[in-house]
Amino acid sequence: MRTVIDLKYCKGCNICVYICPKKCYSKGADLSERGYFAAVVSSPESCYNHKREGKLICELCTLSCPDQAISWKAEEEEKK
Ligand code: SF4
Ligand code: SF4
Repeated sequence: MRTVIDLKYCKGCNICVYICPKKCYSKGADLSERGYFAAVVSSPESCYNHKREGKLICELCTLSCPDQAISWKAEEEEKK
């Protein structure tokens, strides 16, 4: 599984950037349509849940995002 940031909700607070123990996120450099520098999932392969299906072993970022902007996506979905 990997995380995805929904630009409709992210306000660029960067909590995910600072809280992820595996440094999966980076500060954004481009303005979103809402006018925020939304964070970026820059190293999804570093996540504890990379190549995991079913039970997640870390959810710090999804639980910490104040805008519920982070969701999970199956890595298999990206290859289609
Ligand atoms: S914690 Fe949520 S709102 Fe804040 S930068 Fe990360 S994804 Fe965006
Ligand atoms: S689940 Fe944990 S390791 Fe994975 S991106 Fe979120 S905070 Fe980082």
